[in-house]
Amino acid sequence: MHELALGEAIVDTVRRHAGGRSVRRVTARIGHMRQVVPDALQFAWEMLTDGSDLAGCRLEIDHVPAVITCRGCGSTTTLEFPILLCDACDSADVELVSGEEFLVATMDVAEEVSSSSSTTTGDDSAVS
Ligand SMILES: [Zn+2]
Repeated sequence: MHELALGEAIVDTVRRHAGGRSVRRVTARIGHMRQVVPDALQFAWEMLTDGSDLAGCRLEIDHVPAVITCRGCGSTTTLEFPILLCDACDSADVELVSGEEFLVATMDVAEEVSSSSSTTTGDDSAVS
């Protein structure tokens, strides 16, 4: 499952950047050429984070369209399918401008909560 591997890559990146802090929300920029099924990635994300330190962290997917420019005629095409062909002249001599992105764009990290564990002093000093 393609999305599971991508989900793992996101989890790894988030963990590395979070450094132990809790993360509320992650936005991943994913290009159209990656052919990611958003629902499948969400499912993989939940499976990977459930019960972990990232449990409850929301994943948002920022879809980047695949755009090519033609070296022959100079026109720009936004691809619907991952087929690198110029829409204007059918040339395959094109350059991919965007659509291959796969990165963690933003992360909402929770403020450092000073875990002042106010330990309730046990009433072991029972006055008798
Ligand atoms: Zn062209």
